[in-house]
Amino acid sequence: MHPNRRGTVLVAGGGVAGLALAIALRHRGLAAVVLERSAGPDRSGGGLVLAPNAVKALAAIAPGLADRVRAAGHAAGARGAAPHRSAFLDERGRVLGWVSFDGYEDRWGMPAVTILRADLHALLREEAEEAGVELVGGFAADRYRDSGAHVDLVARTGAVRRGDVLVGADGINSAVRAQLLGDGDPPYRGFTAVRGIGPAPAAYPDGFIAYGRGLVLFAAALGGGDLYWVASMTAPRGVAPRRPVAEVLARVIDRTSTWHPDLRKVPASADPAGCVVHDVHDRPPPRTWSRGRVALAGDAAHPMVYTLGQGAGMALEDAAVLATALAGTTLTETALTGHGQAGPGQAGHGQAGPVAGVEQALRRYAAERGPRVRGIVRQSRMLGRIAHVRSPLLVAIRRAILIAATRGTDGGGQSADVFGWTPPAD
Ligand SMILES: Cc1cc2nc3c(=O)[nH]c(=O)nc-3n(C[C@H](O)[C@H](O)[C@H](O)COP(=O)(O)OP(=O)(O)OC[C@H]3O[C@@H](n4cnc5c(N)ncnc54)[C@H](O)[C@@H]3O)c2cc1C
Repeated sequence: MHPNRRGTVLVAGGGVAGLALAIALRHRGLAAVVLERSAGPDRSGGGLVLAPNAVKALAAIAPGLADRVRAAGHAAGARGAAPHRSAFLDERGRVLGWVSFDGYEDRWGMPAVTILRADLHALLREEAEEAGVELVGGFAADRYRDSGAHVDLVARTGAVRRGDVLVGADGINSAVRAQLLGDGDPPYRGFTAVRGIGPAPAAYPDGFIAYGRGLVLFAAALGGGDLYWVASMTAPRGVAPRRPVAEVLARVIDRTSTWHPDLRKVPASADPAGCVVHDVHDRPPPRTWSRGRVALAGDAAHPMVYTLGQGAGMALEDAAVLATALAGTTLTETALTGHGQAGPGQAGHGQAGPVAGVEQALRRYAAERGPRVRGIVRQSRMLGRIAHVRSPLLVAIRRAILIAATRGTDGGGQSADVFGWTPPAD
């Protein structure tokens, strides 16, 4: 165990949630060990749009982190920046409305930032190393034992790490969640997503969302004339991710072959080697996602459909809130409490060594995050349904709604509840 008097947090999974949480903990004086199943850095393709609330979470996680991410990515709506607007289009390239990013930093405190996933990951790893996080690769978490006084995380190889708290940040198919909640596989939402990078059409340098029948093409500017794009299409579960990427990309190209030339050129000019394919799942977030000394963060707690662009944002918010909750607690405290309730498979907590403070901090974190992420998971799923409608009648209704919703607005006002989030005070 790390010789930190205030205690050590084990973090299963070194993705956005895990690395961000570990950095935030180190900046609050706690030891953090990230146990990641991959041996090396994540070089997976595609990008991410970090909304203003996500960038605010980065600023709260560690001083200077938001600035580093802004510098590595492409900011939209930054103070003093050139106008930035993205179009809603139909498949023929007709404009249904616009969404403006102008004034985001003034209104929400931060701009939105589009960044390559591999760049964000590399930057978080670097920041974690600088902050003194212990990064362990090749550790695929399998199960844990919560004794009430400490937690042992057991890898598939049988290797064991001991800590005072365990956070499962091991993504959508979380092993920690499987043991903590035992609620099965996440439901498939009916569409598969292909992500790639390529040149922006001259007419839409800042990006667009183009809606077709059962297929939606989203693109966001990366700077330098390039776009990060996602094409998601209705598909049977589990089929596309098992096929070669080039084959799935060819299917997207085929399904967009009648689209406006500016739009169909986006997937058609992509290099399959730079594309990634994922089926899209989510889960209704559970009532709680902590028990004893164990909690979940990021997709392990609340995977969501990507349509609102908030999955990584919620993971970063989780990191800021959870680190702040734990920072006020001595994790290794050994008072007699009798407050702890033994969960299934856990030792009782009524003897020396239980830490009601830790359990309460984890419960407080899950209780604070629950209502917010539940709403965002629901909204994202609804948008996913609307984006992938196939029947001509529903397509026509969607078109009318989009035109009405963006008429006379800049599209930004509806985001107040999501972008207006404020990080907790330390
Ligand atoms: C098509 C698409 C587009 C998206 N676009 C956006 C967007 O624009 N903006 C946004 O905010 N979000 C977006 N998201 C969502 C975002 O990618 C996720 O919400 C985010 O990556 C979640 O981070 P995480 O760390 O919880 O999980 P992950 O990034 O999945 O990381 C989990 C980590 O845990 C590791 N791991 C898994 N199992 C184990 C184990 N047993 N033991 C140890 N380690 C393990 C994995 O190797 C991985 O490193 C998008 C998602 C998709 C599918």
